[in-house]
Amino acid sequence: MVAHSTIDETIEGAPARYWHALDDGRIQCDLCPRFCRLHDGQRGLCFVRARRGARMMLTTYGRSSGFCIDPIEKKPLNHFLPGTPVLSFGTAGCNLTCKFCQNWDISKARAFDRLQDLATPEQIAQSAVESGSRSVAFTYNDPVIFLEYAVDTAKACRARGIRTVAVTAGYVCAAPRAEFFAQMDAANIDLKGFTEAFYHRLCSAALAPVLETLEYLKHETDVWLEITTLLIPGENDSPAEIEALSAWVMEHLGPDVPLHFTAFHPDWKMLDTPPTRAGSLIEAREIARAAGLRYVYTGNIRDEDTQSTYCHGCGARVIGRDGYDITGWRLTAYGRCRDCGARCAGVFEGSAGSWGGRRRPVVPGGLRL
Ligand code: SF4
Repeated sequence: MVAHSTIDETIEGAPARYWHALDDGRIQCDLCPRFCRLHDGQRGLCFVRARRGARMMLTTYGRSSGFCIDPIEKKPLNHFLPGTPVLSFGTAGCNLTCKFCQNWDISKARAFDRLQDLATPEQIAQSAVESGSRSVAFTYNDPVIFLEYAVDTAKACRARGIRTVAVTAGYVCAAPRAEFFAQMDAANIDLKGFTEAFYHRLCSAALAPVLETLEYLKHETDVWLEITTLLIPGENDSPAEIEALSAWVMEHLGPDVPLHFTAFHPDWKMLDTPPTRAGSLIEAREIARAAGLRYVYTGNIRDEDTQSTYCHGCGARVIGRDGYDITGWRLTAYGRCRDCGARCAGVFEGSAGSWGGRRRPVVPGGLRL
């Protein structure tokens, strides 16, 4: 591993891992299933991994589009240290091309005009400690494309007792996937739809590698896993598709992986598609629960009934939520229902935090371009 601890090094970028030279003189990136093949000076589709001479570089190492302390429920993670603050940041670029992107100002950034904040991994970890954050989240844009920066930051966090969270589409090859998630304590995987046609047409990507990542996380790691599906009217919200998605989760991941159905708002290249009705989210939740999933939530709307957590043993509301506020708590310190003793799946330590819905910007390194 290359250690990066100075601002000069972070401004220059860092050597990238996961690539090899081809016989025709190009270099192939092996980080994600796009396998970009680059001549000198070219960038990959994600824009942040680039060929310089005979090697690949991560051009955004140490640079961020901003740091903010968020509620952990905003990632969304409902079963991972509920109510606690998480220091969140992203960089620029993305390895998917979703026409419905809800963060396009960051993910589509090209001139790096958004990358104003400079921070080393050590500075980020220290900022998390000083701000009272329980975890650091790699989010806003997909962290697999800035793997080297995320991994170094995660190691610095763990050395200080700070947990780590990845919010990602899970579109990554097997070897980098293992390195990346070995440093993560929790992940929310964006399962964008449940057909290859959807992934191909709207994201220029494929579903199968994402399903592989989900199975890998559940069966081969200790990473706490939740899933989010943004329901887009007329694109991925048919009852048949939601039934198929839910049945797959039940069969391949089991009943305890939380599933979030969140509302789309018109954005990026899908400005003519209407926003998701609250009723659609609630219906999707019913379908998933009927398939046997225990923890299914609506998101991007406000509805305490469908955003609270219920005991799978007795049906008691064990975690009440109103927006990002925890309104009820009936779990023991180790996550058991106070009424019947059934265990609620997740990572619980003591009682809930009280961070609520606050968002507080911070500048970990104190340096801005
Ligand atoms: S990580 Fe970026 S450069 Fe590498 S294959 Fe994926 S899109 Fe291409």
